[in-house]
Parts: sequence; C-alpha cells; structure tokens
Amino acid sequence: ELDAGAVFRWLTTAAASVEREADLLTELDSAIGDADHGSNLQRGFAAVVTALGKESPGAPGAVLILAGRQLVSSVGGASGPLYGTLLRRTGKALGDSEQVTGRQLADALRVGVDAVAQLGGAAPGDKTMLDALYPGVEALSAGGPDPYGAARTAADEGAQATVPMRARKGRASYLGDRSVGHKDPGATSSALLFTALAGAVA
Ligand code: ADP
Ligand code: MG
Ligand code: MG
Repeated sequence: ELDAGAVFRWLTTAAASVEREADLLTELDSAIGDADHGSNLQRGFAAVVTALGKESPGAPGAVLILAGRQLVSSVGGASGPLYGTLLRRTGKALGDSEQVTGRQLADALRVGVDAVAQLGGAAPGDKTMLDALYPGVEALSAGGPDPYGAARTAADEGAQATVPMRARKGRASYLGDRSVGHKDPGATSSALLFTALAGAVA
C-alpha cells in the first residue's frame, strides 16, 4: 500500500538524484542532443519540490498530477511535456484513493507510459526514455518478491540497451547513424525515476 507520503518521498528522492546526476545527464545530451537534459530536469524537479512544499495533496494521484503540471510548465525541452504527461496521466489513472496498491500503481504507470508514447509518437527501440520506461513498468507489473528492485534493474538495463540503438525520435534522430554508440539521456533519467521509486517505497 502506498499513500500520498510515499509518492511525495518518491518525487523528492527523484529530485535529489536528478540534482546529483545533472552533470552526467547533460554530458549524455551533449553527445547526441543540445546539452540541456540535466539542467532541464533540475529546473523541473526543483519546481516539483517547491510546489509539493506549498501544497500537500492527500492522495497519491493528486500528488502526481501536481508534480506533472510543474514539469510541463517549468521545462522548455521535450522532456518536460513528456515527463509531465507521464506523471499527470499516471496520477489521473490512480483516481482519488488515499491508499493504492503496488498493482494499482503498476497499472497506472502503464497508462502514463502509453500516454508518453502517444504524445511523442515513439515506440520501444527508438532510443528514447521509453526504452527504460517500458521495461521498468513491465517488471513492476510482473510482481514477484521485489517488484520495485526488479523494475529498477530492468529500467537500468533498458537505458544501457539504448547505446547501440539509432535514434528515431527527438533531437538525437537528426544525427542518424552518428547517434549510435551513445546512451540516451532521457532513458538514463527514466532509470533514475525507477531507482528513486525503489528507494522511496522500500
Ligand atoms: P530537448 O531534446 O528538447 O533538449 P531534453 O534534452 O530535456 O529535451 O530531453 C531529451 C530526451 O527526451 C531524449 O534523450 C529522449 O529520451 C526524450 N525524447 C525526445 N523526444 C522524444 C519522443 N518523441 N518520445 C519520447 N521521448 C523523447
Ligand atoms: Mg536536450
Ligand atoms: Mg533543449
């Protein structure tokens, strides 16, 4: 069972890890993008933490919707609307229950990830955040003794698997074959979200 506090911890843990890994994310984006992924997410998650400090919604879904709105409004890059959509649609799918099960969270996250795929017009294998998000949500849905740990591992492996891919969406796609051999920044930050989730609900 997760309550609003657990989701709050998830997002503040994610914000701290974005802060810690911002230089790495920007470095990855400098190889195949425009070198702003770390600063984009730093700005976005700082806005999330500020908003959650002012308002503390009592339901997991409402916390995610509030956070998603901050990402959409504070991040200029592609990742803002995409991550904002992920959190808003996941939150909407959770409804207004004050307690949700791990199963409900897994199902809601799948709705959120599908919404990201629809918004960005991307599919797994296109070398985007989806290559970490789908394996993560898949592992979470599979359950098992440690679904959050399994989701973290699957998302990490998914991000790593973007290295040999050729980008088909986003700025990296402008590079064509020259995008091969680099890890996708958005897949890397998506893996951080699953690591934060595992840390926050453990
Ligand atoms: P921008 O590319 O606008 O500078 P960011 O650098 O913040 O935005 O984010 C780049 C990341 O966004 C990419 O590494 C990729 O994972 C993700 N991304 C870009 N376009 C798409 C898309 N159409 N669908 C899914 N993810 C995408
Ligand atoms: Mg960028
Ligand atoms: Mg940019």
